[in-house]
Amino acid sequence: MEILRGFKDILPTDIAKWHRLENIARDVLSSFGFKEIRTPILEKTSVFARGVGEATDIVEKEMYTFLDKSNESVTLRPEGTAGVVRSYIDNHLENLPYKKLYYIGPMFRYERPQKGRLRQFHQIGVEVFGISNPSIDAEIVYMDMFMLKKLGIENLRVEINNIGCDRCRPKYINQLKDYFTSHKDKLCEDCKRRLDKNPLRILDCKNKNCKAISKDAPKITEFACDNCKTHYKSVKEKLTLLNIDFIENPHLVRGLDYYTKFVFEIITDKLGAQGTVSAGGRYDGLIEQLGGKETPGIGFASGCERLIELMEEENKKQFDYYIANLDSDDYAMKIALKLIESTNKRVYIEYEKRSLKSMMKKADKMNVSFVIIVGENEKNNNTVVVKDMANSTQEEYNLKTFLDNEVKRWL
Ligand code: ATP
Ligand code: MG
Repeated sequence: MEILRGFKDILPTDIAKWHRLENIARDVLSSFGFKEIRTPILEKTSVFARGVGEATDIVEKEMYTFLDKSNESVTLRPEGTAGVVRSYIDNHLENLPYKKLYYIGPMFRYERPQKGRLRQFHQIGVEVFGISNPSIDAEIVYMDMFMLKKLGIENLRVEINNIGCDRCRPKYINQLKDYFTSHKDKLCEDCKRRLDKNPLRILDCKNKNCKAISKDAPKITEFACDNCKTHYKSVKEKLTLLNIDFIENPHLVRGLDYYTKFVFEIITDKLGAQGTVSAGGRYDGLIEQLGGKETPGIGFASGCERLIELMEEENKKQFDYYIANLDSDDYAMKIALKLIESTNKRVYIEYEKRSLKSMMKKADKMNVSFVIIVGENEKNNNTVVVKDMANSTQEEYNLKTFLDNEVKRWL
């Protein structure tokens, strides 16, 4: 049997890195006052069609959409924001005293699988509701960079742009349309289609020719209204205050339609074409668009697989104790349970009948810290033989003395 194309198992050999990523993310996000929210992986299709935008690549061709058994159109979530906003409205979360939320979990997009691009991938994302103050825009970029630093990921570039709002963007889009129409014959098939429906998306096309044409396209800077200009300027000042270096990229647009005013990406050169590790921005119209009250919003999402790729190998020990059980199941279990209860450490009991030599080999492969050898003799004398794998020393102890020492070791 084969796994689906673009899907990947996360194996026990890699899990330590995933745990480290998730733990650090949770720590950082909660220190900045964020609370986790877990929304369903499957939603009504309209949540994403209306939330992400009908004319985006995601909605047009990347969604896993199907009819359930009662003929309702449902979709595996391609991104996190629309579902969180749906939940925010459904559950009246505007009544919560805090409105900073985060999520961690799988997303699904029917894309062409390649390095750094999967059909099931994971995101860590945040959303802030109800704050229009530009300080929060700067704070979440800072928090994102802080999280990446804690993960040991460096050499990143922050790109930012002002993407305008409903009032000023239409004028810009018209200009873009004129510009790209004059280069229509050189655009790829997708972009020819985008020209009518959503010319802004052409700026995000990964095709070489389209990219070259985009270089000289008009910039939003000239069209932004005063409100968007003031907000964007203020975000830049605050980023400078927080010592965040950034590059202004006037052609930075995001893959989703809901963004307004401030958008950003955090990019590495180490992953080739799929170099964006985190991306986000402000979405002041989205909550209203999905049926809620007029509420400003801002957020970002980081791609976990890309972060994992950039994180250093985990060389920490995988297990603390391996109980080399020589035909003394009950005694081995008694010791293991005492260790688990009193030290809270990771204990692996061997129940397979093996020679001591083969058990030592296995313990070595499993990268354990201590091997505890128990057989008939140890059981009769109430002792254990303990091998410290770090320096290959071995010693026999009275069981109670050993357990007391271990409790102290991990204090
Ligand atoms: P890209 O330009 O790489 O397609 P996007 O604009 O579609 O990205 P977002 O929807 O903003 O990206 O998602 C945020 C982050 O999630 C991306 O920066 C990336 O790290 C990750 N991501 C998005 N799509 C995938 C995918 N198919 N496989 C792995 N990671 C992904
Ligand atoms: Mg994409």
